Amino acid sequence: MTLYRDSALVLRSWRIGESDRVVSMLGENSGKIRAVVKGVRKTKSRFGARLEPLSLVSLLCWKGRDLDVVSQAETIELFRRTREDFDRLSKANVILEATEQVAQDGFSDPELFKLVVRVLRVLEADNPAMLLGSFIWKLLASQGYRPQMEMCVMCGSPDSRAGFDAAAGGVLCDEHAGGRRVSLDALEVISNSLNGKLAQILRIEDSPLVVETETLALKSLEATLERSLRTVRS
Ligand SMILES: [Zn+2]
Repeated sequence: MTLYRDSALVLRSWRIGESDRVVSMLGENSGKIRAVVKGVRKTKSRFGARLEPLSLVSLLCWKGRDLDVVSQAETIELFRRTREDFDRLSKANVILEATEQVAQDGFSDPELFKLVVRVLRVLEADNPAMLLGSFIWKLLASQGYRPQMEMCVMCGSPDSRAGFDAAAGGVLCDEHAGGRRVSLDALEVISNSLNGKLAQILRIEDSPLVVETETLALKSLEATLERSLRTVRS
């Protein structure tokens, strides 16, 4: 077996057997990693809480055929404020789950790693209202999702932008919006998020616009993944 070293964010972990755990992580250079941690339930586990979800670690792993095996893990960042604050932690859980679903096994994606770590640091420091919504739009954009924002996806009319349909892939005109109406402000936030204009979006204060944008983002993510996220109540 070969050893490799990487920085990794722990996304999820679950028990296998009597005393082992599997951790799913996003490695900076390795993409999604699934690795066994031996003996975590022993009281004096040498890994302690370092491999809990939301930990950023420096990792030394043995490459395995199906699952890798963690050899060493040193804490880089624990995001303590986020762990201790219900609102922050709920958002972090959605961020981790969305990341786990989007990341692909063994597919190196350093940009995705940078995006997720950056957003978790902003959550830890400031927790701006629009963070989760804008992150999900950026996550979708990073995976190649480009909704049509200029004209109606049903008829091509550029005259009115009155609705949005994630599954159809973009905006809807007044005639086609039906029950899928959204505000122009929400469409503006979506466009700005997809185009990376995050600074101005993150200044938006808590408002119905935040909820609207977040809901649209999560629906689009689910339409893209074709299933619901566990951490989001529908
Ligand atoms: Zn139309």
